[in-house]
Order: sequence, then C-alpha cells, then structure tokens
Amino acid sequence: MPPVPDPSPAAASTAPATTRPGGPASSTAPLGPGEAVLAFDVGGTDMKSALVDRHGRVLGLRRTPTPLGDGDPAAAVVSALAELAAAHRARHRDVRPVAAGVSVPGLVDERAGVGIFASNLGWRDAPIRDLAERALGLPVAFGHDVRAAGDAEHRLGAARGYGDVVVLAIGTGIAGALVLGGHPYAGGGYAGELGHALGDPGGERCPCGARGCLETIASAGAVARRYTAASGIAVAGAREVLAAAEAGDADAARVWDDAVRALAEALARLVATVAPEAVVIGGGLAQAGPALFEPLRQRLDGLLSFHRRPVLLQAQLGDDAGLLGTALAARDLANHDASQPGAER
Ligand SMILES: [Zn+2]
Repeated sequence: MPPVPDPSPAAASTAPATTRPGGPASSTAPLGPGEAVLAFDVGGTDMKSALVDRHGRVLGLRRTPTPLGDGDPAAAVVSALAELAAAHRARHRDVRPVAAGVSVPGLVDERAGVGIFASNLGWRDAPIRDLAERALGLPVAFGHDVRAAGDAEHRLGAARGYGDVVVLAIGTGIAGALVLGGHPYAGGGYAGELGHALGDPGGERCPCGARGCLETIASAGAVARRYTAASGIAVAGAREVLAAAEAGDADAARVWDDAVRALAEALARLVATVAPEAVVIGGGLAQAGPALFEPLRQRLDGLLSFHRRPVLLQAQLGDDAGLLGTALAARDLANHDASQPGAER
C-alpha cells in the first residue's frame, strides 16, 4: 500500500477543538479522482456495495442481505459478491473497475487475506481474498470493516490532517480503529477492540466472555438495556434514555452518566498509552451530539494532567464510512499494481 500522506501541521493546528456536526451520508462523497473500483462492505446482517468511477462518484450504492450459508458461509458471501458485481457492471457498462475492495467484520488478517473469525457470519480461517479474486476476476483489497471506516474518517472525514487518531463507532457495541503515525494499525487483526477493554471489574458478563467490558456500560445498546433494567421502562434506544435524563428522570441520568464516565476513563487510558491527536466518535451514540461530547470532554479533561489532549470530533462520513474506506483500499491496491504491464486503464 502506498503511504498515507503525512499529517499536515497546518491542518492540525487550525482544526477546531470542538464537535463537528456529522455530515449526511452522501452518494457524492469526497473520494476524488482515481481508479474505478468495486467496493463491498459486508456486515453481519446486510452488505453495502457500489461501483466507484474515475471521478470518485459512488454509483448504484445498494444494501442487500448478507447470505448466511449453513455449509460454507464464506463461499455464500463470495458468491453474493460476484452476483452484485455483475449487476453493478451491467448497469454501468462505461465504468471498468480495475480492482475491488471487500471489508468484513470480526477478526481479520488483512495481510494474509483471511477472515479469521466472525461470530455473526460463522467463518473460521476463510481465505476470502483468494475466493473473491477468483469470483470477481479482479485484484481484491481485503480488510476489516471498522478499520476501513476509520481509514476513511482519517483520509476523507473528521480526522483529516491528523496523524495519530482513534476512531470509535458506538452503536450496539463499541468498535475502534487506530491510525498511528498516519498508518492504520491492525495488531494482527486484534487492535482497536476498545469495546472489550475493561470498564468495570465488577460489571456484567459480556457476550465475549470477559466481565465488565466497556461496551456493557457505554454502548448505545447498553445504555438502553441498563435503563430498562433500572426503571422497568422499555425503550427503543439510547436516544430515549437521553431524552428521559434531560427531562429529569434520575435512572436515565445515572445510566447516561455511567456511560460517559466509563467512556472518559477508557479514553484517558488510551490517551496515556497512544496519545492520539484526535478521537473521532461515530455510530448511534454520537448522534447525541453535544449531549455526549460536552460532558465527555469535561470528564476526560478532568482525568488528564500533562497528557496530550486530543480533540474529540464527531464522525463525518456516517454509515458510508466503511464502504468509502473499502473503495480507498481498492484504489490503493490498483495504484500499487498500476506499474505492472497489462494493467487496464
Ligand atoms: Zn467483551
């Protein structure tokens, strides 16, 4: 992969240390000119796919259910990719993709091209890159969905211009991606799992098997669940809990405060360890905007002394960040291969 451009000191010093509003997910996202590629962001329940043309336009973006093959889940997904690729190419015959990007959830070994494990999808050690290259007839950049989204926020979105960045997606769970020295850091596929870092030693059991993981306290899913457990009132999501807290509901206020405190403590440890310049937060919980970012910033500030204080930024690319990052990876691969003889367009 070509190196990610070095952080621009000018951009870093002029970037506001305030929350930026999340921009709407757009089909004319700022990919800019480059090679035409196919991009697939495979999720646990559905997958997004699109063709990106040489102007960087995202064409035919669609969301389709992820097939859950009983026998061979990786083969089922790859065959769905091939069908989608054929449909995208048939609709836009003038656009000729020279590479494809495929991002998947779970534990991913990007270098080996292997999906090590995905609890939702059920594969183990699946050689997805090789399978996809054969099925699509294109070189494939294979990666992890959250790291792809983090890379997009770093190169195109909220964290543009910063070299050391943590990107968190806080929704049903908490997923993270690290960019260090301008480069994504994968840790062999295991890095970025802030949601499964210890939040409370006496906390509840996490589905991952450990106790007191951060996401059992501070994910949007946990906020809703913990409020219902405390109050007996069923809610659709964390947004309702925040509204109840703002209306004076003591249970809601406590649950929200627990989440903010646990997040601030996790970030404080991260700040001491990797000293990010920026922390980007996206996902459902980030949609609370200042109601999340202001108390989080204050809490975090109170936990730090000499440390480098990161700016806290709201994610900008919305739900499409994973797909955009996947397209970027495919373009990186195409550029890498471009000098080879016979490379098309
Ligand atoms: Zn866990």
